[in-house]
Amino acid sequence: MTTARISTALGLLLAMLLSGCAENRDPQNPAAAHGDDATAVIAAKRIRVGVKADTPPFGSKSGETYIGFDIDIALAVAKQLESILKTPALEVEFVPVTSHNRIEKLLAGEVDMLVASMTITRYRDQVQNLDFTVPYFQDGQSLLVLKDSPIQSYQDLAGRSVGCVRGSTSSWYLNQVAPDCKPTKYEDFPSLFAALDAGQVDAATSDLLILMGRMRSAKDPAAYRIAGDRFTTEPYGIAVRENQSTWRDSLNEAIQQLWENGRWRVIADTWFGAQSAYPTQLNFGITPYPK
Ligand code: GLU
Repeated sequence: MTTARISTALGLLLAMLLSGCAENRDPQNPAAAHGDDATAVIAAKRIRVGVKADTPPFGSKSGETYIGFDIDIALAVAKQLESILKTPALEVEFVPVTSHNRIEKLLAGEVDMLVASMTITRYRDQVQNLDFTVPYFQDGQSLLVLKDSPIQSYQDLAGRSVGCVRGSTSSWYLNQVAPDCKPTKYEDFPSLFAALDAGQVDAATSDLLILMGRMRSAKDPAAYRIAGDRFTTEPYGIAVRENQSTWRDSLNEAIQQLWENGRWRVIADTWFGAQSAYPTQLNFGITPYPK
């Protein structure tokens, strides 16, 4: 054989071996048929979930554990996956992420999915090498100010300094609705809210429930005010790496099952129902796909 033929033959052999690894076609195990992230999760018997550690009511650290709406959704999704992926109980390992580093951590393989108050946007989907599940929640952007602030809504922001978190949709929308304001980006929510407290910004902007989370956890909630209604629509999705079809399909199935079996409602009531810490009128529902 010529050198060219030998290298072609070796290349073919290597390709066969590699595809052979991914081609473990087991009808009992849908993920193995595709060799995607679902296979890795089943093999590890564990899901690593990127969550917020400082963003109540979605994700915050409480002692050694995490609590929040996103945390409960992640745990419930993991439970549903056991029957969907035909696997024994999956351990859930929470990994703290920020708005700024969450995509980097997902793409670096440090987590298998993000359940991190993350809005599904076409930009993130098309440009940032990730995919989203169907929405599991929806919020919208608003403003948090100190109680005596003259700011009543985003229409009062011209010339004002407004803080938001790096890596969030908030700065992009802020530029759309108030191009004449002076925006400053902060690394995470605690730094953003510290800047508001210190008078370094006239307003903080993010999703409404995150701003309410700040008010509730502050020493003096009455020192703050929400200024105006939500002015954007932020559908939250679970983010996964791009082209992980079985993994994403399984998560989509899990989310739809949580809606159908009532578990989603129980979690939503825990965090946002009339008796909860964040009583909120939720205008959101999941439409399960026909079977
Ligand atoms: N939901 C918005 C986003 O994904 C803001 C909250 C956040 O950054 O987590 O950018």
